[in-house]
Amino acid sequence: MNIILLGAPGSGKGTEASLISKDLSIPTISTGDIIRDNIKNKTELGILSQNYINLGQLVPDDLVINLVKERLTQTDVLNGYILDGFPRTVTQAQALQSFSKIDKIILIDTNYDVIEERILSRRTCPVCKRVYNTKTYKSDFCEVCKAKLIIRDDDNKETVKNRYDVYLKETAPLIDFYKNQGLLYKVNGNLQADEVYKEIKQILQK
Ligand code: AMP
Repeated sequence: MNIILLGAPGSGKGTEASLISKDLSIPTISTGDIIRDNIKNKTELGILSQNYINLGQLVPDDLVINLVKERLTQTDVLNGYILDGFPRTVTQAQALQSFSKIDKIILIDTNYDVIEERILSRRTCPVCKRVYNTKTYKSDFCEVCKAKLIIRDDDNKETVKNRYDVYLKETAPLIDFYKNQGLLYKVNGNLQADEVYKEIKQILQK
């Protein structure tokens, strides 16, 4: 099954993606993670993306579309995949339709105050990309790979607001785009991660 997780930054896409990935044994493709790895490795894509990501703006469509198109040629996606953070614009969604077929789009619907609180207390494992929250996880190290957790450069109060505005302007139009295709399902992203996942599981079983 090919799944898109749609939702504002901090809505819990990464957390829910790892749960689905484990359950269905299909990979998560997070464009944010791929771009951050490219920045770390100083690749051409990384150098071109750095300013956009730090300001909370979207990386240009053609760069992101090409990276997803290429990623989807790898054999591990043959039984399905989860897209986390892509598409983020109607142009990206139209491009995706030209090279892959999506079965379900799950919108994680979350209020801004919840998003801000989650992002400001988010810690990320730089190795396996697992996401933690300081409210519920008290260690500074990843429970799986033991790496020291980091705060993403774009997880600060100023950028959160920018990213949310960009979401409303560029990404929220995808809700109607997919609703019109009859592929959109909505879950309540204000709940705890395991409660959200219960809703997602019901959708995946439909
Ligand atoms: P994320 O990890 O999904 O929150 O993404 C972090 C940042 O990476 C975003 O604020 C954008 O700068 C960039 N990014 C990730 N995915 C995309 C995308 N599909 N289109 C454009 N920029 C993206």
